[in-house]
Amino acid sequence: KEPVFSATMEEARELLRKYYGYPDFREGQKKVIASILNGNDTLGIMPTGGGKSICYQIPAMLMSGTTIVISPLISLMKDQVDGLDSIGVPAAYINSSLSYAQVELRIRKAERGEYKLLYVAPERLESERFLELLSNLVVPMVAVDEAHCVSQWGHDFRPSYMRINQLVAHLPERPLLGAFTATATDQVREDIVRHLKLREPQVFVTGFARENLSFSVVKGENKRDVLMRYIREHAEEAGIVYAATRKEVDQLCEFLRRQGVAAGRYHAGMTDKERAEAQEQFLYDEVRVMVASNAFGMGIDKSNVRYVIHFNMPKNMEAYYQEAGRAGRDGEPSDCLLLFSPQDIHIQKFLIEQSVGDPERQSQEYRKLQQMADYCHTPQCLQRYIVRYFGGDTAEDCGQCSNCVSPDLELTDITLEAQQIFSCVRRMRERFGMTLVASVLKGSRNKKVLELGFDSLSTYGLMKSRTEKDIIDLIQLLIAEGYLQLTEGKYPVLKLTAKASGVLAGADRVVQRVRKKSAAPAVKDVET
Ligand code: ADP
Repeated sequence: KEPVFSATMEEARELLRKYYGYPDFREGQKKVIASILNGNDTLGIMPTGGGKSICYQIPAMLMSGTTIVISPLISLMKDQVDGLDSIGVPAAYINSSLSYAQVELRIRKAERGEYKLLYVAPERLESERFLELLSNLVVPMVAVDEAHCVSQWGHDFRPSYMRINQLVAHLPERPLLGAFTATATDQVREDIVRHLKLREPQVFVTGFARENLSFSVVKGENKRDVLMRYIREHAEEAGIVYAATRKEVDQLCEFLRRQGVAAGRYHAGMTDKERAEAQEQFLYDEVRVMVASNAFGMGIDKSNVRYVIHFNMPKNMEAYYQEAGRAGRDGEPSDCLLLFSPQDIHIQKFLIEQSVGDPERQSQEYRKLQQMADYCHTPQCLQRYIVRYFGGDTAEDCGQCSNCVSPDLELTDITLEAQQIFSCVRRMRERFGMTLVASVLKGSRNKKVLELGFDSLSTYGLMKSRTEKDIIDLIQLLIAEGYLQLTEGKYPVLKLTAKASGVLAGADRVVQRVRKKSAAPAVKDVET
């Protein structure tokens, strides 16, 4: 392979110190940059805030010619170019905010080698004429930001990303390709490699563990109370509260204001002007708490957000982590709370049914929703769950998430309970949902149980000393841990997995962190 440039990591580090003022690269950045400097096509999978931009900016500065960056958001592009300008790196962008003459001027300048980086909106690639214009440029690398936009499986498909290939083909020499995204599912990864035609790409999944973030899941409590309590206890700090619908955003914002909290709101139903104003106010700390829909965040770079609270569970882990990851971008300790209620699952299911037509796609969305719900029910370290979900690996528990610190959770052997549940599922021929399985185990005399004759099963009433809610909690935990599976669709049915067979056969034990058996109620809660 003919090296297009030669630069060492030491030179890269020097630029980092000189231009950005940081002492060293983060671990993930190191790997990605070394791979690029070695001349490999590289796919970097990093969370929002992980420091992607430096991964292509610094190599670009070390190569001769102009690196083209494909980036989907006009506002982000401008921020990046302004940022580069301010540290003295020549860069420009080309998007629909420019006239054709301005575009040509910038391309002329690029041809004269005046820019190290040229940001281009993907829509530009639709124009053959534009591609022709680029065909004289010396381009050592094409960096594709938000590369998941090339995949129909991603949450953000942009047809014009399919044209990136044509851009590459138009260039006099085949450049290196760098692709960056925070979405790490296998399908999306495969699509990126295939559609961008990456050659023997090096793939790095890094930075998903954010040590300064403490994750918590709160279940079974009044959400507004929890929210208010938290905001009061953090009265001096800036935070974001995400809610699922515009209506909920409006109502929550109203509620907080009535409680005397300086709250702002942001959702897609507001005018551009209103949204820009809201964003400014938050950026400059005029409002302390931003109540927002998922429309908020793309492109905001407020580093001192101390907490992100999800008032509703989002539709998948990608969305959750992207939003939660907006906390603590300055590296200071920050909190990510998720307030869960079973209703959230219904809302998201409904949204999937409404918005996704294709059945294959729909079942993919259901699977992801299930993994999101599993996050809310896992007794494991939450940070670890996240890192594993995104394909990384960590050896240790974070020691600070709600599961790691909960005094209510203790390590318990629940093999017997698990066997009771599994054998009940099996005897009901894996054809029924959670609620009915719990009713049978409880020994309920409800109509459906009796009609189906389940009161004559040997597992009927096996867990009668527990409440049905307790049994359902256990079932959810066993789903989250991969012993049971819920089928997709309107009426999900419980199935056993291979992992459960080992337990049923007596070969494996189930040891889990579970909620301690509830002690006697606190005296103050007992009515007299
Ligand atoms: P992304 O594009 O992945 O969301 P950015 O490139 O915007 O992330 O970087 C996120 C933040 O981390 C920025 O404030 C950036 O200045 C900072 N950052 C990036 N790399 C480093 C580093 N090596 N050391 C310290 N801070 C860094």
